[in-house]
Amino acid sequence: MIVFLAVWEIAAVVLLSFGIATAGEVTATDWTRLAALAGCATLHIQLTRRQEERRRNRIASVHIDLSGIWTFPAALLLPIHLTLLLIAIVRGQRWVNSRRPPHKFVFTTFTVAVAALVAQRLFEALAADDISRLDQSNGLRMFALLMLVGFAYALVQALIIGSLLALGGTASPTLRNVLGSKSDNLLEASTIGLGTIATVLLVNLPPSIIILVLVSVVGNRLAEINQLQSEARTDAKTGVLNVRGWTESAQRALNRASRSSEELALLMIDLDHFKWINDTFGHPAGDDVLRSVAQTLGEVTRPADVVGRFGGEEFLILLPDIDRAGAELAAERVRSAIEDLRIVTTDKRGGQTTVAGRTTSIGVAVYPRHADSLEAMLQAADGAVYDAKESGRNLVRFAADVPPDASVPPAQRTEG
Ligand code: GH3
Ligand code: MG
Ligand code: MG
Repeated sequence: MIVFLAVWEIAAVVLLSFGIATAGEVTATDWTRLAALAGCATLHIQLTRRQEERRRNRIASVHIDLSGIWTFPAALLLPIHLTLLLIAIVRGQRWVNSRRPPHKFVFTTFTVAVAALVAQRLFEALAADDISRLDQSNGLRMFALLMLVGFAYALVQALIIGSLLALGGTASPTLRNVLGSKSDNLLEASTIGLGTIATVLLVNLPPSIIILVLVSVVGNRLAEINQLQSEARTDAKTGVLNVRGWTESAQRALNRASRSSEELALLMIDLDHFKWINDTFGHPAGDDVLRSVAQTLGEVTRPADVVGRFGGEEFLILLPDIDRAGAELAAERVRSAIEDLRIVTTDKRGGQTTVAGRTTSIGVAVYPRHADSLEAMLQAADGAVYDAKESGRNLVRFAADVPPDASVPPAQRTEG
């Protein structure tokens, strides 16, 4: 990752130096446009400062910066050194507000600058018409070109920042972690779309770009709502789904299974003698164990499996499209993965300690053989957890099969 950072930053300096060396003359119009963009960007940044801080503190993976609304027009219309000046003005203010690790900040700034250079050269090379003289005959062609350049601008950033995240950002780089979620990309596309509009306005009706300041402030609000929506479904401590989020996803998977008459399994996972960890090492150590278990659950399951935290030290996994034998294998895999965990954490005095060999009791219910609704599945799996606890812990136990005839007394039910 460090090698990648260093190589990319050197490459960026070389590319940008080349860009500056071969840049055109700076005109008075360029300075006016720079002033307009810098003024709007500053207004935007200052009006959304608090909110942007909140958003940044929460973000898990990709952070979309709406200031592309201002830097994209600069890239298209201004010589590269003026664009770099605007990027410096924008990024400088963001830096003062957010105080993120400087190496990441410098890296992102270089990436935005190179993307701007690529966009500018592409636009210069392909623009057959003058953007200030648009009419019926060339409007569509210009629109297509702006879309293409916007896509290139976003792609350069996504590739470079995505590579960095894949190299070292997250433990298990998934496509979503690296390239962002659907809504992240929608936001990115809207930002560049607004940047395109800003470009046309800045050339043809300069004062009207002030309207885009309002739009960008609203855009920030929408981005925050997006994030709050996903937070409402997430367990803050462990990062897996909370009960609300898990129930939504699990219910959807159950509906799908019932439509296609597939089987589906529910694992309820309860850590054994968890209270002992808190009592022995303190609650921060207990929290570290919970986080580490949650991460492991994500790693030993398939992407379609739904992992959530039920409460305290209990987790849930819904496994779509799996039969009893498959569920047993999956539950055993979870059980042994947790048993193999070695968690480096702190003891009560703040010294370093390792928690290892922790065990779990897992209750499994299979749809439709053990229960036919989510609630009944939870009930059945919970009963199986108690069965596992009573049988000595560190075990996987299945729920009791529902008898074919429900009038058969429970005592006669056979274990599944
Ligand atoms: P058993 O093997 O029977 O499951 O024993 P246990 O100690 O795991 O179960 P018990 O229900 O007695 O205790 C659960 C403990 O989990 C008690 C509670 O303090 C702790 N706990 C619940 N939520 C959290 C949390 O978010 N962080 C920490 N550190 N501890 C938690
Ligand atoms: Mg418990
Ligand atoms: Mg427990």
